[in-house]
Amino acid sequence: MRVAILSSEAVPFAKTGGLADVSGALTKALHAEGADSFLIIPLYDQIDRTALGSTFIDDLEVDWRGKLARIRVWQSDALKAPTYLIDAPHYFAPGKIYGEVNDFERFAFFCRASIALLNRLGDAPDILHCNDWPTGFAAVEMRARRRHEEFFAKTRIVFSIHNLAYQGAFRPSDLWWLGFNAYASDFMLDGAASALKAGLVAADVLSTVSPRYAREIQTPEQGYGLDWLMRARSDRLIGITNGVDYDVWNPETDTDIAANFSADDLSGKRECKLDLLQRFGLPQEPERPIIGIISRLVGQKGYDLIRQAARGILDTGAFFIALGAGAREYEDFLQSWHDQAPQRVGVYKGYAGEPLAHQIEAGADIFLMPSLYEPCGLNQMYSMRYGTVPVVRATGGLDDTVESFDVSTGKGNGFKFGPYSASALLEKIREAIYFYTQPDIWAQIKRNGMKTDNSWSAAAKKYLQLYREVTRGAPV
Ligand code: ADP
Repeated sequence: MRVAILSSEAVPFAKTGGLADVSGALTKALHAEGADSFLIIPLYDQIDRTALGSTFIDDLEVDWRGKLARIRVWQSDALKAPTYLIDAPHYFAPGKIYGEVNDFERFAFFCRASIALLNRLGDAPDILHCNDWPTGFAAVEMRARRRHEEFFAKTRIVFSIHNLAYQGAFRPSDLWWLGFNAYASDFMLDGAASALKAGLVAADVLSTVSPRYAREIQTPEQGYGLDWLMRARSDRLIGITNGVDYDVWNPETDTDIAANFSADDLSGKRECKLDLLQRFGLPQEPERPIIGIISRLVGQKGYDLIRQAARGILDTGAFFIALGAGAREYEDFLQSWHDQAPQRVGVYKGYAGEPLAHQIEAGADIFLMPSLYEPCGLNQMYSMRYGTVPVVRATGGLDDTVESFDVSTGKGNGFKFGPYSASALLEKIREAIYFYTQPDIWAQIKRNGMKTDNSWSAAAKKYLQLYREVTRGAPV
C-alpha cells in the first residue's frame, strides 16, 4: 500500500499543534505496519536544514499561474519514513507557518507542487492522504487529474479532518488565477471559497480523529456550517482515534525530564515535580498538587471557564502552571493571574518547543483540558502515560479516551465533566484533588492511566483497513 501523506506541519520538523504530532507519527506507524508511506510538507524557514539530507530534486517544475516555477525538494530520514520537503522560499521562507495574508495561495502552491512531486517519485500512490484545509486543493486537483491521467487513475483520496473550524476561506475571485475556477461550486461556502469544503467534497473517504467527533460534526452546534455536508457524506465518514508516539512520549526514556519513571516505580516523578516548580519560580512545596495545562490559547480550549473559575481553583490549594501561545486576551489573563498570585501561578506565554511540554507532563499531578470542543486531543493521552491525571470536558476525543474514575470499582484513568460551565469544571477539580489527598487511591488512578494503551499501531491498522476498502471501491 503506497501512501502519500500531505500535511502543513509534522514533527520533528515544524509544529504548532496536534496536527504535527499526528502527521509525523501516522506516517511512521504506517511504515512500521509495512506500508510504503511517505510524508510531504513545506520547507519552512524554522526547519533545521542540517537535519536534512542533500537536495533530492533540483528542478521540480510546477505549473503555476501560467508559468513553470522551478523548485527544489529535500529529503529527510529523520522520521523513520521518507519525508519530502517542498522548498519554495517565496512562500515558506518568511515568517509563520500560518497567519500570512496569502495562506490560501501558499498552501495552494504546496498542493500543486506535491502532486508534481508524486509524478516524479516512481509509482503513483494508492492513497493520497490529505489533512485539514491546507491540503484541500490537492484533493480537488487529484480528483480532476486522475480522470484523464492514466498515472493517477488508481489513486484514491482520503481526507482527514483534524479540526473542522479552520476552513481556509478566501475570496472566490482568487479561484481563477489559482486554476480552480472550474470547481468553484465545490469551494463555495457562505459567499467565500473554502479550501476545506472543496477537499471534503473531492475526497473518496473522510476520516476524523475520534468516533465521537465524527458524530459531533454532523450537528449544527459543532458542524461550523458544514454539518449538512458531514451528514450527506456520513456513509463515507469514519472516526479513528489518534495514538501516542511512545518513542517520543515515554517517561521511562524521556531525555527532557529531570528523572525517568515508570508505572512500577514512580519515584522519579517527585523529582520532575520539584524541577517543574523551580523552572516556574514557584516554591518547592511538593505536597501541593500541580494543575498543568498546555494548549493553544484559543476559545476552543476552555480558557473562558478557567478565567471564571480562577479564584476557586486557587482555593483548592493547588499550583497552576500554564504553557500557551495565542490570543492576546488569554495571554493577558494568564499574566494578570500570575501577577496576583506569583507564588501559586506559573505561566509561560509563547510556543516553547517540546522540552517544556514534556517537563509539564512529567511534573504536574493533574492535567486540565476543559475544551469547548476537542476533535481528539493528545495531551490527555500524554498525561496518562506520565502519571498525570487528566481532568477534561466530555467532548470529542476527550470523551472517547478518558474513562471517569469510579471509586467503587477502582477503574478509570481521569475525571470528566459535562456542561460547559465554570462550576462544572471546578467541581471536577475539587473531586480530583479530594482523591489526590488519598495517596493509595491516587496511585491507583495514575497506574490506570499509565497502563492505558494508546499506541499508534492500533490506529495505523484502522487506517490501513480504510485504505484497503477505498482502493477496492469506485472513485467519487
Ligand atoms: P491542538 O491540535 O488543537 O493544538 P492537541 O491536544 O491535539 O491540540 O495537541 C497539541 C499539541 O501541541 C501537544 O503536543 C502540545 O504539547 C503542543 N503545544 C500546544 N501549545 C504549545 C506551546 N505553547 N508550546 C509547546 N507545545 C505546545
